[in-house]
Amino acid sequence: MKITFLGTGTGIPQADRVQSGVLMDTGDSLLLFDCGCGVLGRIFESGYQHKDITGIVLTHLHLDHVGDVLALIKANWLIGRTDMKLYGPQGTREWFEKTLDVYDYLRDRFTVDITELSPGDEFTPEGSDCVISCAKTVHTDNSLAYRLEKEGKSVVYTGDTEPCYEVMELAEGVEVLIHECSFPLGFPMTNHTTPDMLSLMLEEEPLDVKDIYLTHLYPHMQGRYREAVDHLRKYFKGNVTIAKDLMEIEI
Ligand SMILES: [Zn+2]
Ligand SMILES: [Zn+2]
Repeated sequence: MKITFLGTGTGIPQADRVQSGVLMDTGDSLLLFDCGCGVLGRIFESGYQHKDITGIVLTHLHLDHVGDVLALIKANWLIGRTDMKLYGPQGTREWFEKTLDVYDYLRDRFTVDITELSPGDEFTPEGSDCVISCAKTVHTDNSLAYRLEKEGKSVVYTGDTEPCYEVMELAEGVEVLIHECSFPLGFPMTNHTTPDMLSLMLEEEPLDVKDIYLTHLYPHMQGRYREAVDHLRKYFKGNVTIAKDLMEIEI
């Protein structure tokens, strides 16, 4: 399975980080987790093609995670692909319908099949033999983290969250945990993660995971990356890496 970080940034622009997006290539499917502004361009830069994405999976409906969803579906339509599978939390259907109300000229151009998910759900995206499990995160009422498993390999993507037991349980035993780390050590924050919030959780719930990749990095994190990694290494035996846009990992 190949994972490509498309966007590792947030709602505030930075030179090298667009908004949230992670592409998971399972061999038989190409799944895009979140699709914030800038992600459509990054798909092009990554060498993948937007028309080959088999499904879009949303963690929550904040703009920095969904800004390019309609742009991607429109880009597909412009080159002749008119279907898409969209998976997301409760409220995804209403969000998409309301978005189409604004862009009415697109309404009958394509068919988007929407599946709404809740914590504890498990599903297999159409055309794939991977299994995706959902867990609640501490961010919005309906926000979700996802665990994708394929042929004994597994990865968790948290979306936005405070460190929480539900995510730790979901991540137990995975090869790769992609955890948000919005703000630097000591930054007072709720609903997002800082290195010290994550280390407190890791002290309570030691994780059997090979690699943690930190993403969803606000500009406040610039110059504080080394400090974050050094801090977390005291509490976690595996590797800790700051993700970058277009970074690729194989598991
Ligand atoms: Zn958010
Ligand atoms: Zn966000």
